[in-house]
Amino acid sequence: MAMTMKLNKLTKEEERVIVHKGTEMPFTGEYDQNFKPGTYVCRRCEAPLYRSDDKFDAHCGWPAFDKEIPGAIKHVPPDMLHKSLGAADELQCARCGAYLGHQFVGEGFTQTNTRACVNSISMKFIPKKEGKDGK
Ligand SMILES: [Zn+2]
Repeated sequence: MAMTMKLNKLTKEEERVIVHKGTEMPFTGEYDQNFKPGTYVCRRCEAPLYRSDDKFDAHCGWPAFDKEIPGAIKHVPPDMLHKSLGAADELQCARCGAYLGHQFVGEGFTQTNTRACVNSISMKFIPKKEGKDGK
């Protein structure tokens, strides 16, 4: 594996979330209601993070996934605020350390009993190339 990492330039708002661990407003992210087939990659380094097959609608206002791409996500302890909100882990891109969101467990949404709550702005959606386009 090459050790050089190409990082995308971030907008001010992307930087606020990805670098400074901000949170986008709920129900405003561009992928909250996106259920098209494809892969979600890191906005900064484009490492694949989550698959559309594992996305579900948790009605929480942010994209929710019940599984991650193995090895793609770094889990660290949450800060006090998110811990008090029930978060089990803080989620970062394993490759570049971009802040993604938080993981919650034990809520019973899906079989894995796990909800990765991820800011849309931390990711970029790559639609699946094969197959038909929409309807
Ligand atoms: Zn990354």
